[in-house]
Amino acid sequence: MYKSNKSHVKLKDIVNDIKTITDNPIYTNNYAYVFNGVIGGFVDIGEHQGSYVAKEICNILEGNKIEEGILPKSSGMYIFDYKQIYDYNIDILKMPKDSKLLNKPKYALLLPKPLKITVCIVFSLLILIVVYVVYKFIIEIKKSNKNKKLYERAKEREQLKTDFIVNMSHELRTPLNVILSTSKVAELKINTNNYDNKYLLGKLEQINKNSNRLLKLVNNLIDITKFEQGVYEINLENINIVEVVEDIVLASVDYATYKNIDLVFDTEEEEIITAIDKDKIERAILNLLSNAIKFTHKGGSIYVYIKREKDKVFISVEDNGMGIPKDKINEIFNRFYQVSDTLKKHEEGSGIGLCIVEEIVDLHGGKINVYSEVNKGSKFEIILPIYMVEENFKNLQIKDIQQIVKLEMSDVDTKEN
Ligand code: ADP
Repeated sequence: MYKSNKSHVKLKDIVNDIKTITDNPIYTNNYAYVFNGVIGGFVDIGEHQGSYVAKEICNILEGNKIEEGILPKSSGMYIFDYKQIYDYNIDILKMPKDSKLLNKPKYALLLPKPLKITVCIVFSLLILIVVYVVYKFIIEIKKSNKNKKLYERAKEREQLKTDFIVNMSHELRTPLNVILSTSKVAELKINTNNYDNKYLLGKLEQINKNSNRLLKLVNNLIDITKFEQGVYEINLENINIVEVVEDIVLASVDYATYKNIDLVFDTEEEEIITAIDKDKIERAILNLLSNAIKFTHKGGSIYVYIKREKDKVFISVEDNGMGIPKDKINEIFNRFYQVSDTLKKHEEGSGIGLCIVEEIVDLHGGKINVYSEVNKGSKFEIILPIYMVEENFKNLQIKDIQQIVKLEMSDVDTKEN
């Protein structure tokens, strides 16, 4: 008892006091000490004895037989404090069988401390290895997916190239055949003296047209290569774009007339001065016009319209021709894409035109929209920013507009081939 306040000394304090004078582990056979910082030991548990005796008395009172006698042969058990065992570095594997452990964390391993550390290290290493393997696995899967995608893309490109070669061979062969056969026929007629000037001029016109068709194809191919290499240049000059478009439309009227198509030009403004590369814009508009003429039935109409909204100029080419299916609209700007083979049967083309138009518009900082409905018609709308550049010093070649139109319209079907 404490001398000062006469109260009982706490068991924990006694154990702690003993611990200050010795490093030896403290064992006990007193149940009360087990919870107060000692290792533990074989302890008698009074309440176990009590409940055993009570049970036996009940048996006697009920007239049942009792086997072992009123007192239990052994009424104690081994109880140890898990925490103390590890604090004193005692081998837990040497604990007697059926021992009871106090203070044991739910998932703690019952192993000696050094073994426990080894297990922890091995386990951590295992986790690290598993994490590393899973990580590597995911990376490999990602890599193989990427490779798969690259492979698919390469395959697609390869397919496009093959299609392109097939397409180009066809496109080159057709005008070449016409040129060859026409010149052969003309030669024969001349040799047999069986010709007149009109006949010969007709043949020469055919040769001319098909040569232009070849030239257009080769020009487009050169442009496409330039786009790919990033060396396609534009030479800007401040110019009235309304006039440029109007001149191109007027120069194309004959080609529309061949197909009995009404080609109308309309504008909200007489003059919109802006920086453009005249040649390139002419090519873009001509491409749209030649497509409109190609894909519009006889007797149809094409409407070219210019308007200005704030600092933008809108140029639209609208036809009431065969139109483009909704799911194909985004594809027509792809290189060598043509909507369907049936169209090709009617009209010539290589599927490069719109790709070039888009690049030209892009180089001018503009964009192109398409609105189309099958059997109703299509509207291609070029939107360009209006701005000025400093006067450029480039030698501007003056070209014959009729010649340019002739070249771009060379794949539009006219009277003969
Ligand atoms: P192409 O040399 O075949 O005309 P383009 O790149 O100019 O090549 O056009 C690609 C395809 O887009 C055409 O083959 C055609 O199927 C479709 N297309 C373009 N313009 C029109 C139009 N005005 N009406 C209907 N289809 C069009």
